[in-house]
Parts: sequence; C-alpha cells; structure tokens
Amino acid sequence: MVLRSGPVAATGLVGGWALAGALFIAGCGPSPSPGKAAAPAAGPSPSTNAAAARANVDAARLLAADVDQQNWLTHGRTYSEQRFSPLKSIDESNVFRLGLAWYYDLGTTRGVEATPLVVDGVMYTTSAWSIVYALDAKTGKELWVYDPKVPKRWGQYACCDVVNRGVAVWGGKVYVGTLDGRLDAIDAATGKLVWEKLTVDQSLPYTITGAPRVVNGKVVIGNGGAEYGVRGYVTAYDAATGDQVWRFYTVPGDPAKGFETKELEMAAKTWHGEWWKGGGGGTPWDALVFDPELDLLYIGTGNGAPWAREIRSPGGGDNLFLSSIVAVNADTGAYVWHYQETPGEAWDYTATQSLVLATLELDGRERRVIMHAPKNGFFYVLDRATGELLSAEKFVPVNWASRVDMKTGRPVEVPETVYHEKSVMVLPGPLGAHSWNPMAYSPLTGLVYIPAHSSGYPYSTDPLFEHVEGRPNLGMNPNGGPPLNAQDPIISTNMAALIAWDPRAAKEVWRIDYLSPGSGGVLATASNLLVEGLVDGRFVIYRATDGKLLWQMPVQTGVMGGPISYSVDGDQYIAVSAGWGGINSLVGVRPQGGAPLAQGRVLAFKLGGTVTLPPVPPPAPLDPPPPLTASADTVARGSFVYGQHCAICHGVGAVSGGSTPDLRHMSSATHAEFDSIVLGGSRADRGMVSFSDVVTPADAEAVHAYLIKRARDERGPQSPPTPPTP
Ligand code: CA
Repeated sequence: MVLRSGPVAATGLVGGWALAGALFIAGCGPSPSPGKAAAPAAGPSPSTNAAAARANVDAARLLAADVDQQNWLTHGRTYSEQRFSPLKSIDESNVFRLGLAWYYDLGTTRGVEATPLVVDGVMYTTSAWSIVYALDAKTGKELWVYDPKVPKRWGQYACCDVVNRGVAVWGGKVYVGTLDGRLDAIDAATGKLVWEKLTVDQSLPYTITGAPRVVNGKVVIGNGGAEYGVRGYVTAYDAATGDQVWRFYTVPGDPAKGFETKELEMAAKTWHGEWWKGGGGGTPWDALVFDPELDLLYIGTGNGAPWAREIRSPGGGDNLFLSSIVAVNADTGAYVWHYQETPGEAWDYTATQSLVLATLELDGRERRVIMHAPKNGFFYVLDRATGELLSAEKFVPVNWASRVDMKTGRPVEVPETVYHEKSVMVLPGPLGAHSWNPMAYSPLTGLVYIPAHSSGYPYSTDPLFEHVEGRPNLGMNPNGGPPLNAQDPIISTNMAALIAWDPRAAKEVWRIDYLSPGSGGVLATASNLLVEGLVDGRFVIYRATDGKLLWQMPVQTGVMGGPISYSVDGDQYIAVSAGWGGINSLVGVRPQGGAPLAQGRVLAFKLGGTVTLPPVPPPAPLDPPPPLTASADTVARGSFVYGQHCAICHGVGAVSGGSTPDLRHMSSATHAEFDSIVLGGSRADRGMVSFSDVVTPADAEAVHAYLIKRARDERGPQSPPTPPTP
C-alpha cells in the first residue's frame, strides 16, 4: 500500500516549522564536532579488487556518462542531471533482499547534503566544513580524507549550515568548493592539494556550498551569501592549471565602476536606487548545468539582497538576473538568454534548485527542455535552446501569484501579497516549495519526482533597516509579521510531500506525504524504483510508476542528500551521504518518526547486505543545572536576546534540532565559562564566535539566566541531578 500519513500540519510541528522560516535570519557557526578522521568502516570483507583512486575522467567519458552504467561521474550522474540510473539488478522482485553493505562515519553532526560520485570503484563525497572523502565503493574502506581546514568562524556566514553538496572529478583530480570561498583541486590518488584558487573577496561574507561541475575542461563554481549582502557570480577555471577563464556576474554592480558586459548594463536598467551597496544578491549557490548539445551552461540564480524589494530597489523593477535561469556560452561565459521566474523577487525565491535537462514530446513536437521546480512554487518547462516558456503550473499551494501568463511569460502577482507597507503571510515561505534537495526525472515513467514542501511566512519590511557588513541583511522587520498561529488559514496549508509530476501534462500524478517537514533528494532507476532518504530517519524505495512502498529501513539519522546507484564487480549498490542538519535542524525542528541521531554517515546498500548499524548510545548523563537566581524580567530579556541571536543555531526555545548543542544540557564547566564563550569567543575554533559586538555583558547574563530557566523547566521544578550511568 502507498504510505500515507496525515498532513504535516497535524504533527504538531507547525510552530517549529513556521519558525524555521521566521528565524531564517542569521548565520550559524557552532559545531560540536569539527571534521575529523572517521571511525573505521564496517566493511564485511576486504575488496578482492582493491580500488585505486585515479579519477580517470575526461571529456569523452563525461559526455558518455549515460552508457557508463556502473559509475556516477558527475553531480546529477550525467550532464542532464536527471538522477536516473540505468542499473536494473535491484528490482521490485528482489528489493526485499536489500540490506546494508557497508557504512562509513563522517564524524559530524552538522548537515550532510552531498551527492557522492563513483569512478571505477572509488567513491568521492563530502561532509560538513567542505571535507572530502575517498572511499572504496565496494567496502567503504577509507582511501584518504582531505580537510581544507575552513576557519570555523566562517560558519557565521552560512545561513543554512556549514554544508557541502559534493565534488567534481576530472583528469585525476577531485574539485571541491570550500565554505570560505576557495576552489581546491586535489590529487585523486593521494588526497593532496594540487592547486587552490580563492574565488571570492574574503572580506565579504561569501560562502560556497554547491558542487563544482567540469565543463569542456573547465571547473565552474558559484557562491552564496545573498542573506548577508553580496553580489553573485559564477567563475570558470582551467581544470588543469586553475587559471581563471571567465566570470559571469548575475546582477549588475556599481555603475560608476562600469559594467562588465552590455547585458549587465541592460540589467541595471531594471534596478533603482543604490542597490550595489547591499550587494544585490542573485548568488548562484547550487544548480550549474551544462548542455553539451548546445554548448550552454545554465545557471540558477538566487534571491535579492536584501529580501525587501523596496529597500533593495526603491520603486520596484524586475532586478535582473535575480531568481532566473540564465544561459551562458560554456566556453566564454557570454550571456545567451535568460528567463526570470520571479521578477522583482521579494520572498527569498531562489531559482537555484535542480535544473533537469530532457527531450520531451510536447504538442507533437520534440522539444529540448529544462525542467525546474524552484522555491516560488511553479513547475517550469522551458525550451533550452531559446529560453521560451512552455509551461508553468503550481505544484504546491501558492498565494503570491495567481498564475503565469503564457503570453508574456510573467507571473500574475497577487497585489495583496506585496508587503512593504504591511505584513503579509505569503506562500511559499523562504524555505520554499522546493530547495536544494535534488529532484529526479525518470524517462521510463515520464515523471519528475519533487521533494516538495510549503509553509507560510510572515513577511514585513523593516522600516529602520540599515545594512551592517558581515551580518544578515534581509530587510525583514523581526517584530513586524502577523503572529504565527496554527489556526491561520495559510498555516493550515502547510504541506510536505514527494510529488510525482507529469511535465507534459503539467500536473501532479500522485504524492506521498512526509511525516516531517524537510525532505530528501531522489533517485530513479531503470527497474522502476524510486529511492529517497527521509528526514524522519528512514531510507525508502517506492515503485516509480505509482508510489507503492516496496522497502524501507530505519537508518538512525535524518537523510537529506541525493541517493546514487553504481556497481562494482557486478553488484549493484544504492548509496547516500546521510545526516540530519541544515536550516530546519539549526532552528530546532526535530523530525518526527524517531531518528535518534544527527550522525553524518555514508550508507551503501546491496542485495544480501547484512551489515547492521551500531546501537544508538544512551544519552550522556547531564549535570544538574545551576540554581536560578535572576528575576523574571531578566529571564524575559534573556528570552528576547536569545531569540534575536542564538535561536538560529541552537533552536527555538533553546530546544536543539540535534546538529548543534542543546543549551539546556550545558555541563557545569560550560556554565562556568559562559561569558568567555559568548563574549570572549573562547570556542571560536569550534565555530562559536564572540557575540560581543551585538550582545552586552548584561544581555549575556540575561541569556544565561534564560537558559538555566529552560534547563530547569525541562527537568522539573526540583531539577534533581541525573544519576550517572555506570
Ligand atoms: Ca536565500
């Protein structure tokens, strides 16, 4: 039977979920477990054909990636990024025999969002803090670990956790973009650095979380940081030498410095005021997809900086090329076409989500298309040669636009959702209808599988906004939105589901509701399987045609990344880089369904696999909280300051989502060091930077009192010490 749960709105997580959006305002640094060499793998036996990490990949191999069935050579498996594996050994008749072949601990509780690559028996994947791993894909044996040693203070610039979505491979090298803006080329055989390029101005709060792609012998990489105020761009580097080949800016800069291209001069006419002072945004932080048939690179661009349109560009304007798909010449970076999905973007509606290339028959014609399900809630099909809009229909509840006008290609905006003079609940909110979690397309079923979710968010322009360098700069009024209320008719439309979408008919075919908000990436296979890890801690396989649940296994941790399939020595594997984290976890959302850990782990499954995960350790004994001596007013002040500066990483109400420390559980030693941590920056090497520039000593004391109150609330009025376990 099809797995169906009640709507997510009924799970009691609505408040935390909506707050995940409401608190989407700050960067996050703290890390309880910085990258470290992982525990030994639990491979059942050594490989008889020990893998050698050579990354022997060239242009011809990448172009033929689809027929190279045993490998997963680039982010979405092939340049089309369909995430469709032609392997068929695991199918509906035998999937009940699927079991764990091996696992590998990544040594982190921070978010894991990578899609692994597999080249000739070697897996390359990444973890939090941009750490790269080479593993024997048959046994999970560690071949090498490369730690780019990202300064942990950079975590404060990562709006949505210190994540990384994977590597590219080419010519014996492995490429990774680091959180602090470097592009590193690593020797695939040894794990040693070959060359390194700084891709950003490190005096500005840029981050890289996306996977590089290799295109015609060049490595392309984008960046993030629009929540803080930067100007987005994509850069191409020579894959062999690291020399810069081209750079394409996604928004215009300061006109006084001259425009880099005539297209940016044209784009500047769609902006008003002094937008460049806040960076403008448009950061292309995930999808960069190459089309070898047309020699185009498609760039999915990000949201505006700041979010509030009237602050960013007073008087309006489309603000090109925010929230757009832009096609550039892959060899020169020259502009070719663009399609703007959300003109004058004002809701954090990035267009950075998976761009999937296919050929579809539409109205009796074969069309080469891009398919896209961005944050704004419409599913787009574009002709990828020209950018012509072929269809755009809502795939989740949407209230910011009634439809997309097919004549003009523009959304028909709902005037009531313009929020600059009032507060408005808008659907979808900033977590989007679909974010980075990769979707898949099965040519077998003709369906696109979208890990979707939607929740309302109270937008309100901050009338007192001033740009502060290096801090979140959204232009949102922290106290201006309508109160979050589970009875609100907008909140009641909250949903999260795996949606099977027919891109020809532009409509949903079936859906499976998630138990928890947040969703995992998707893989489709030629044997009609659909594979997904879930944030509630299950790894599941459905029948792709109708969503029938075929197999599932609890894996102890929430899973967000994209699964892959590959084969070694004739055995088909399905694998995923698992681990709970990201924006939902940071603000304190704990998945329903029983995933007890936020443990980063690579999991590989095969038919007959018999490896079991180690038992979940019992919770560590807690020190009793100190006595509460502060006044109720001080605790209330502490609650307010906590909400302003701390909740984004340590959770709403001081309830951690699992990937960062739960501050109700501070040890006696941590309580004693509280001021030196919060004001003195004594744990900056773990990412907990000093907040002395925004938090006064009196406020730090108030926050401390609030946390003691929360700890005592949790453990009852007497707060008896927890007896130590033997
Ligand atoms: Ca954003």
